[in-house]
Amino acid sequence: MISGTVVVATEICKGCELCIASCPQDSLGLSSSINRKGYRFAQLIRDNCTGCTNCALVCPDSAITVYREKKTAKRVPQTVIASHAA
Ligand code: SF4
Ligand code: SF4
Repeated sequence: MISGTVVVATEICKGCELCIASCPQDSLGLSSSINRKGYRFAQLIRDNCTGCTNCALVCPDSAITVYREKKTAKRVPQTVIASHAA
């Protein structure tokens, strides 16, 4: 299973919201604070990013970097399996 996260270059972002509209997970939103240019900037608002890169691809200013990692499946302790099998 893949999970992801994004880093937004907040001083480059101009708050156009294209990335927000492109995110299938609704992971992004605009900040309540503004950058030095006076724009609210995009930020992660949920912890459900899949690392699909849609947001980075649509950003006209290349302000988003996406990081992906492979999540390892949770191991079920052998004792739990044994007790359920009985
Ligand atoms: S990488 Fe995909 S899931 Fe993650 S914030 Fe960007 S569009 Fe949304
Ligand atoms: S698409 Fe780029 S410039 Fe527009 S809000 Fe998102 S990060 Fe900012």
